[in-house]
Amino acid sequence: MTDLMREACLIDGQWVTADQWIDVDDPATGERIGRVPRCSGAQTQQAIDAAERAMGSWARRPAKERAAVLRRYFDLIMARQDELAALLTREQGKPLAEARGEIAYAAGFIEWFGEEAKRVYGDVLPSHADDKRIVVLKQPIGVVAAITPWNFPAAMITRKIGPALAAGCGVVLKPASQTPFTALALAALAQEAGLPDGLFNVVTGSAAEIGDVLTSSETVRKLSFTGSTEVGAKLYEQSAPSIKKLSLELGGNAPFIVFDDADLDAAVVGAIQSKFRNAGQTCVCANRIYAQAGIYDAFVEKLAAATAKLKVAPGTEEGAEIGPLIDDKAVKKVREHIADAVSQGASVVTGGEPHTRGGRFFAPTVLSGVTQSMLIAREETFGPVAPVFRFETDDDAIAMANDTPFGLASYFYARDLGRVWRVAEGIEAGIVGVNTGLISTELAPFGGVKLSGLGREGSRYGIEDYLEIKYVCLSI
Ligand code: ADP
Repeated sequence: MTDLMREACLIDGQWVTADQWIDVDDPATGERIGRVPRCSGAQTQQAIDAAERAMGSWARRPAKERAAVLRRYFDLIMARQDELAALLTREQGKPLAEARGEIAYAAGFIEWFGEEAKRVYGDVLPSHADDKRIVVLKQPIGVVAAITPWNFPAAMITRKIGPALAAGCGVVLKPASQTPFTALALAALAQEAGLPDGLFNVVTGSAAEIGDVLTSSETVRKLSFTGSTEVGAKLYEQSAPSIKKLSLELGGNAPFIVFDDADLDAAVVGAIQSKFRNAGQTCVCANRIYAQAGIYDAFVEKLAAATAKLKVAPGTEEGAEIGPLIDDKAVKKVREHIADAVSQGASVVTGGEPHTRGGRFFAPTVLSGVTQSMLIAREETFGPVAPVFRFETDDDAIAMANDTPFGLASYFYARDLGRVWRVAEGIEAGIVGVNTGLISTELAPFGGVKLSGLGREGSRYGIEDYLEIKYVCLSI
């Protein structure tokens, strides 16, 4: 294993441990990979204090200097891409090719926001009086807390720390306990890139204990969280007394609609990419696939044929396309969703069972005859199951797609221009993929509406969440 694998946390530039530990396992085998410290509330507080101290001089540095450090950081991540990808696959399970892609995607946020640091423009506004001038300054919001999930152990971190560091903020990160090693490796590289001690701290440990300290702190001015809606709502509540600014990237329940004028083969490729990436464990994975009555049977047949060809294997095996699920709980949820659908009349077209490899591997599945009353229509499955619903009219499709409290990603395949425009406008979601199953890039604003969250990550909009506006009224 790489020397970037650290069994210690980074607080104020020091690698530290704790009295208690958390074991981390390999989801492909269940073997223990190593352990990370269970940091205390007091250590979390030290990290917050360190971030506050460090950000003073960091924020005063010219943007060009901050950008240069972030550029070095980007270069170091890319230079170690293969090692980082191997570590990521070991703790998370995704195929190595996907892990390499995630490292490049993750590094992209550091590169992009480093460049954006130079474009944090203030403003001069028309004045209300002859002897007054109105000037708008943009300043770093303050210490940022970031809490991240296990499904993208690298990218969910950099899309938060990239804009935070670029804006001039100090950061305390709590990564998911299932995948802390990628986070700690990224911290080691940040140190090597020349980020000042204390500016970027990583604490591993109990989510509730660390989360309490981060949310109750008045020094922490912003919390950026990616994870479940349930935990996001709790953090929102906990952050209320200190009036923190929040970015919440929460659960999704993405619809994927195939209209009767779609290029069916392209729709199948898009559905496979969107549904089965990371074994279905992304918040933008298609969760409900709607096919119009005229092409329903043909689409299901093509989708099932393509799904049955996907190679299920440990992420490290050549050609692996579907790795293991993250833990036993995830396998249980997939089984429950399938059992509920079948008990209400859905049919298994392919898969439907744990994979013969055993452990946490699950056979990629296509279900037909799925309806809105089934559990799979209402909840995010977060696994390799493609349920296909039938619809008749465009209005039905839009109504069914919007029949959820969530609104993160959505996708549809159609060729009629009027239809494309109407559906894109009608879907309640933060992201719409039209004739594509892949929508993620650091250049675009990523985020949801309704119970899928608040704020946007990536693009020129992404840095705004880490800035405060100050209005200066100048009398001349
Ligand atoms: P998932 O279902 O993706 O695991 P969670 O919302 O449970 O999503 O977890 C996402 C992140 O939130 C993880 O880093 C987890 O440790 C953290 N987390 C879970 N519960 C809490 C909590 N009560 N307070 C703060 N963070 C939490």
